[in-house]
Amino acid sequence: MGFDLADLVKSRAGEGSQLWSRYLNPQTSKVLHSVGLDRQWVRAQGPYLWDDQGDRYLDWLAGFGVFGLGRNHPVVARALHQVLDAELADMVKMDTPLLAGLLGEALVARVPHLDRVYLCNSGTEAVEAALKFARYYTGRPRVLYCGHAYHGLTAGALSVNGGKAFKAGFGPLLPASEIPFGDIAALEKAAAKGDVAALIVEPVQGKGVQVAPPGYLAAAAGVLHANKALLICDEVQAGMGRTGRMFSFEHDAVEPDIITVAKTLSGGYVPVAATMTREDIFGSVYSSMTRVLVHDTTYSHNNMAAAAGLAALSVIDDEGLLANAAARGDELRRSLERSAARFDFIKDVRGRGLMVGIEFGAPGSLRLKGRYSPLSALRKGLFTQMVVCRLFSEHRVLTQTAADHMDVLKLLPPLATTSEDIGWFMSGFEAVMGEIQASSRPVWQFAKGLASRSLARSSHA
Ligand code: PMP
Repeated sequence: MGFDLADLVKSRAGEGSQLWSRYLNPQTSKVLHSVGLDRQWVRAQGPYLWDDQGDRYLDWLAGFGVFGLGRNHPVVARALHQVLDAELADMVKMDTPLLAGLLGEALVARVPHLDRVYLCNSGTEAVEAALKFARYYTGRPRVLYCGHAYHGLTAGALSVNGGKAFKAGFGPLLPASEIPFGDIAALEKAAAKGDVAALIVEPVQGKGVQVAPPGYLAAAAGVLHANKALLICDEVQAGMGRTGRMFSFEHDAVEPDIITVAKTLSGGYVPVAATMTREDIFGSVYSSMTRVLVHDTTYSHNNMAAAAGLAALSVIDDEGLLANAAARGDELRRSLERSAARFDFIKDVRGRGLMVGIEFGAPGSLRLKGRYSPLSALRKGLFTQMVVCRLFSEHRVLTQTAADHMDVLKLLPPLATTSEDIGWFMSGFEAVMGEIQASSRPVWQFAKGLASRSLARSSHA
């Protein structure tokens, strides 16, 4: 018999890590092993993952935010089965496929002040398009970005990345300048130089989970427009319902000129992303028939991607996920604030909707400070990595460190998360905090082990 995926998976089960070590990025297996996060995942449903031992885990990493709808959502799965069964004529390229058109219509219906959609395959590609559109429309080269920004890792997106470690050795990149997040005076100064095409900004930064100060985005738009430059809001992580609104810029009275969308739009199945903008900007780029392909990519209008996007948008509406993200987010933050009063290491609880950050810092007690400070001096984020590891190994909750410049634990529960799962997380979290606060020797020894292996680095999202 010819190729059979089920047979292949059965006959090679358990070889994933070995194959990665040999053929893909070998550092991945090493890192996961060192921090004790290496499992063979065999099944997933909604917010849960199961390993090959049959143990169930709560997934609040959500694939760096891809699983806003949870995993293996039946409505998205059905739509994808329907595409396969229909044997559609996909990617003819000399065509105007219906499903891509419908996805454009569905996206524009959700952002009334924007008119046009460019479809692509990943967040970083959506950012590339946004940067190119802004540069072409304004005829200017420079893009401004915020400290600790993350917009992806392809060369254009990397130019506006706030993390130096990502950039080192890959230059020279596009002309770009960093300004502090939330600082209007710095924006005014930079924009006044006259060579600025746009500011690109995450309304809630993924790194460190920093929320834009109230009024910042509206004021930034004012400054940019006065200087003939554009505002790009990167909604790749915070968009599609994560903050309790469809897009995170909606918390501010602002109409960005361009937005980028990805992650949850995929329904957790097929890579799909979008750059949305106004007619005048889009029309300047695609200004004639000869420029029809001036910015494009082969897979951009494929039917599986468009079907996943359409199904994902419909699930957000049909299941009332915006309201749930807002309500459960408030519930989670309130529970965490109660914890903060009990545990000295918790310095701040912040975020919007179901994008939540817990910042840790040096406690008041001399005894505990004596343990925290050397750890934090070795490497920022190490304390958080210890919390991530303990939550995972002792309580089967998957989370992530959110920064390498401060100690922040990031929580990205699926948008349909329940009070019961918040209870699961909180009991695990409080147990870990209690164990650390009690200063029990094994947990700090574990942290020292991590430090010596020097592996506590934040994830890329
Ligand atoms: N922008 C933001 C705000 C992101 O969080 C990410 C991914 N974490 C990206 C862009 C890049 O998206 P992708 O990984 O799909 O290229």
